[in-house]
Amino acid sequence: MTGPADPAEAAGELADLRRRLDQVRARIVDAGGELGVVRLLAVSKGVDPHRLAMAHQLGLRDLGESYAQELVAKAEGELAEHPDLRWHFIGRLQRNKVRLVAPFVHLWQSVDRLSLAGEVARRAPGARVLVQVNVSGADQQGGVPPERVAATVEGCRDLGLDVVGLMAIGPQGTSQEVRAAFGRVRALADQLQLPERSMGMSGDLEQAVAEGSTMVRVGTALFGPRRDAGAVGK
Ligand SMILES: *Cc1c(COP(=O)(O)O)cnc(C)c1O
Repeated sequence: MTGPADPAEAAGELADLRRRLDQVRARIVDAGGELGVVRLLAVSKGVDPHRLAMAHQLGLRDLGESYAQELVAKAEGELAEHPDLRWHFIGRLQRNKVRLVAPFVHLWQSVDRLSLAGEVARRAPGARVLVQVNVSGADQQGGVPPERVAATVEGCRDLGLDVVGLMAIGPQGTSQEVRAAFGRVRALADQLQLPERSMGMSGDLEQAVAEGSTMVRVGTALFGPRRDAGAVGK
């Protein structure tokens, strides 16, 4: 077991996490979301495993990771004691990393091209996936442009994947602009009859919930500022 040896310090960390979790849940409710309908995905990249064990203790089960090696190191480490944890892959994924994470991933949230979908289908036949939509036009965020989402969903299905929804990272902009972008994701999901919309992070979960998010992905608001992304487990 890693983490503080001093029990008082560990208790303080747990209390701090509980307080932050209560705040995040209150934000979801204040934005008009119903807990249980809007699922809370704890984004665990850069967060030490002992704090994720605390998150588990507080009832969180869905964890989001952005880096393949980090996900594997965590899933195979002390957190393997908790087989009810569900690992979500939410970052940009290289095809050659799919095999590595396939045994652990519950939901592939960042499928944004058919070459990647093909590899997921090969290593995890029938897997549940979200197609990531690019609503910002910013390249580095990844995602399929809105006009290509329908074809990508169809292509994933042809590969035998179970497409359950869409994922998006909100754009930079005013609250209205962010909300409008999430509204476009919701409209697309409705049009394609996809139930899951993974949208909203620490900074924009209110706008996402107001536009019908079914899953918010929250890192810093829960765990505080993180260490260098990708540094854990290396
Ligand atoms: C890091 C990350 C998050 C969480 O971001 P916070 O601002 O820390 O809540 C959510 N989604 C994706 C895709 C991320 O990479």
